[in-house]
Formats: sequence, structure tokens, C-alpha cells
Amino acid sequence: MHKGIAISPGIVVGVAYRVDLVFGSTEPQKLDDPEQVPVEIARFDRAVVQSAAELEAVVTKVAQQLGKSEADIFKGHLQIVNDQTLLAKVRTLIQTQQLTALSALQLVLQGYAATFARIEHDYFRERMADVRDVISRIGSHLTLQSPLAHAAEHHSAASGEEPVILVAQEILPSQAMSLGNLPIAGIVTETGGGTSHAAILARSRGIPAVSGVVGITDDVRSGDLMVVDGREGLVIIRPDREMTAAYRKLQREFFDLKDRLVLNRDQPAESSDGAHVELLANINNLADAQAACKVGATGVGLFRTEYLFLTHQDVPDEEEQYQYYRQIIEDSPNRTVAIRTLDLGGDKTVPYLGRRNEANPFMGWRSIRLSFEHPRLFERQIRAILRAGRHGKVSMLFPMITTLEELHQVNKMVEEARRNLRREGIPFGEDVKTGVMVEVPAAAVCIDAILRETDFISIGSNDLIQFLVAADRDNAKVAHLCEPLSPAIFRVLHMVFQACQQTGTPVTLCGEMAGQPRSVLTLFGMGLRRFSMSPAFIPTIKALLASVTTAQAERFAHQVLQLKTSEEIRSYLTARLREISSTLEVLDSA
Ligand code: PEP
Ligand code: MG
Repeated sequence: MHKGIAISPGIVVGVAYRVDLVFGSTEPQKLDDPEQVPVEIARFDRAVVQSAAELEAVVTKVAQQLGKSEADIFKGHLQIVNDQTLLAKVRTLIQTQQLTALSALQLVLQGYAATFARIEHDYFRERMADVRDVISRIGSHLTLQSPLAHAAEHHSAASGEEPVILVAQEILPSQAMSLGNLPIAGIVTETGGGTSHAAILARSRGIPAVSGVVGITDDVRSGDLMVVDGREGLVIIRPDREMTAAYRKLQREFFDLKDRLVLNRDQPAESSDGAHVELLANINNLADAQAACKVGATGVGLFRTEYLFLTHQDVPDEEEQYQYYRQIIEDSPNRTVAIRTLDLGGDKTVPYLGRRNEANPFMGWRSIRLSFEHPRLFERQIRAILRAGRHGKVSMLFPMITTLEELHQVNKMVEEARRNLRREGIPFGEDVKTGVMVEVPAAAVCIDAILRETDFISIGSNDLIQFLVAADRDNAKVAHLCEPLSPAIFRVLHMVFQACQQTGTPVTLCGEMAGQPRSVLTLFGMGLRRFSMSPAFIPTIKALLASVTTAQAERFAHQVLQLKTSEEIRSYLTARLREISSTLEVLDSA
């Protein structure tokens, strides 16, 4: 039994599948028949030619969209894809060891990684990331999808009835996206915190997940039966018969409860005394928008646009963005969407914006800071959002605003974009509102000044918490500090809500705590009426609110604000939640 961090609630019993970061499968695959060698080499050569052609196009497009120096990165990739030593190594492995092209590529990559790891120099470490990018590009031409997705699909077909549980060192946000709608029933990783973006993606698909499980990739073999308890943060490898039966029962109960809850999708979201609440969805792609409709969200409170960039072959231009945003709006509940501008950096990087080895990436060159440094890119995104704004009730959200100067600058850029579109005769949504993500403590402290210059705010509690407590949200070692149920976070939130009430500014909370029952009880009691969360949590939160009165929740919030430690808050709220509904408690993380 291993203990980790509960990052997505739920229980699943399934078959482990250990995955490699780039390639999916960790075991080398041999060709069935030596006769296949020349065919496999030809297939590899074709994938190389396709990758090179694709990279040529990327160089041209990135140079046009961003500039020559950004395109240089892909010129570097072209050199790697045409590197005859690398290509010869792969061909030799296919020939001498009769490996599949994908496995040969994987071995070559491992060889390079071992060499690069011995070099203590940032420059070379970054070049390794480029080699990995190119090799994974060739890999996706071999498998016609991301190699990780390919491996997962292949494995789940082979595992028959049992659900598949991915076990990995870590899963990057872009890879988590590539898993799409594959039948993955659980995720266990060695690294990553509760609000890391890979965790958020697991949650958005309602997949039980546990992170921070040190040593799991050594202890588990593909094919092992295992239990993932995403509520308690437990992972059990090769459970005995009794334990398996007990967890299978819990798994059934968990899914039955979720199935029952979703029947509330057409009921209004309100407390038992009729106070209306807006339950919105956080989405990253079209599938999430559709999921939001299915569970009865009344709109999208946060659309993270960076996932379009993370999964795009090159940099999406204005027209591509416009078309994509338009489709998202059309597929979203009530065509209501808050579109957030790029929040790249931190744990989400794309090669064309440079890959920097920063000591503190979450506090470094990310988000709006990065957009300011690429004004042409930023301007095109603002234009695309304004244009898409004609197709629904659309607003634009700016992440990581830290100072008033930054807000002035974005407001100026939006005005300029409007003027330009008008002058060019391009239609756009005249009533697109703009909002600030309050997720840096500096913005929360100066909230009165911010509120004077924005239409609305949305609180990004994931970042706000990590910055308030100075604990990296992606680092499992300090996860105990990234705790929403804490005096500091509730006091800051209370202060922000009060400022919004005074000015009548609409406020949403869109961090992960918006989907966590004990936090929601308190936030509702503090007067918050707009919550945005992973679609999977909406039925639970709706049921929770229906079983509490406003006065009760106000009492809880009042009491929470008096408590001095996280432990006191947690035990107080756990007891209140249990009184209100013991069944809903199952759907919260420990
Ligand atoms: C947040 O920080 O709470 C948030 C909603 O944004 P993200 O998780 O994408 O950083
Ligand atoms: Mg954030």
C-alpha cells in the first residue's frame, strides 16, 4: 500500500499500465517477423520525411506569426530530424535487434538522455528537450496519434474487461490532453501536486487519481492488479481477494452515486431556501464544453485557451483561433463563455515561445507576462476573442494580473483591437466584457483599485493559494501547504468578496476549491454565488447546495473565519458536511 496525494476523487480497481513520458510503452516491442525489417525501415523513413516537411511549414508559419528568432527553434528541430547519425542509429536498431521503429526511436532517445544528463549545462539540457520534441514528432507520424495515446489505446484493448490505470513518473498537461477520450480509469504518478494541470485534467474527466506516490514506477509492473483510492490518496498494488472485493464494492457505490447525482442536471442550482447560485464549468477543449452541457452547467466560467496552443502543431493564427473559439462557444451551455487569454509557462510550455530553465517557473516568465512580451501574438488572440464574441455571451479574462499598470496595458490593448477591427470593417462582439483573474496576492491586496477598472473578476484560487503560502502547486513535497481549507486563504477571499459586494462587481471563483464540498459550504456562506469547476463536480455541488440553507452556510463561514488552524477548519467543516449529507462526503478528497 502506498500513500500519496488525493488529486481526483473516486475509487477504481484495474490493471496497471506503466507508461513512458514520450512513448507510452516502457517495454521495447519486437517485430513479429524478421521479413518486416525493410518494411519497418521504409515506414520509419517515411515518418522522417513527413516530420521534416511538417517542420518546414512550421518554420515559415512561426516566422510570420511570431518572428524569425522564434522560428529558429524549429530550424534547430529540422537539423535534428535530418541528423544522419541519429537516423542511422534508429535504422541499425531496427535491423540488428528487429525492433519496431517506435521502440528503436525510444532506445535512441534513452541513449541521448543518458549522455545529456552527464552534461551540467542548461544549454544542453534544453537541447535534450528539442531532441525529445523531434523524436516524439516522428513517433506521432509512426502511430498516427500521440505515442502515449496510441500505447494506452493498445493496452486497454489488450486488457479486456479490466479498466486501465496509467502509472507514470509524471504526466505533462499536453500529454494528458492527448489521452482524449481513451478508456483510462485511473492515474497514478510519482510527481505533481493537487492543482498541477495534469491533475486538473484528470479531475475534469472524473478519473480517480493519486500523485506524489514515490517509488510506484519501480514497484508496479504492467498487468498488475491495483486499486486507486482518489479520496484517501491510497494506491494498493496486487491487493488480496478480500481487499479487491471490498474496493470493487466501493467503486460500484461511487459510480452509482455519480450516476444518480447527474439526474439533477435540469434542476436549478439553489440552496434549500432558494438562493440562486451559478454553477459554471472550467473547460480546456470541445469535449469539456460538451461535458459541461451534459451535467447542467449554465455556462463556462473558465476556458483555458492555452490547450489549443499546447496541442497545435504550430502557432494557431487569428483565423484558426477565431474558428475554434466560435465552435467552443456554440457547443457551450447557453453559449456563455469566459475565454481566458494565454496562460502558458509554469508547467505548460510550447517550444516556439522559448523554453527557459527557470528555478521557479510558476513565479517566472509565464501567463500575461509572456503575452506582453509577444504583443503581436497577444493582439491576435484578443482580436480572435472579440470576433468570436458575436456568437454568444462572451467575456475575456486576463490571467496573473499583478499590478494596476498591467491592467491599464491590457485595457489599452483591448481598446486598440476594437478600434482596428472597426476600422477594418471586421464584425466583432461589441459587448464582450473584460475581467481580471485574481490569483496573485498583490492583486487581492489592492482589489479596490482593480475593481475600479474591470467589468468582473474571477478568483484563481489554485495560484492564489500557492503564492499566499509560498508552496509550488506542482511539488508533491509541499502539497500539505497548498491547502484551500486554511485561515489565510479564507481571510483573503472574504476580503475580496466584501470589496466586490461594495462595488457590485460580479465575482466567480474558478480554482479547484470551487468543486470541493467543504470549501463550497464556506464560500457560499461568505456570499459567493458564482462557482466555476470541472464539469464532473457540478452534480455534486448542486446536490450539496440543495441540502443547506443560506443561514446555515453563513453560520459555518462565520465560524471558519474565527478558527486559527487548517486542522480546526478541516475537522469543523468535515463534521458540518457529514451532518448535511454523509453521501456527498464520499465525493470530496480527503
Ligand atoms: C487558478 O489558478 O485557480 C486557475 C483557475 O487557473 P489555472 O489552474 O489554469 O492556473
Ligand atoms: Mg491560475
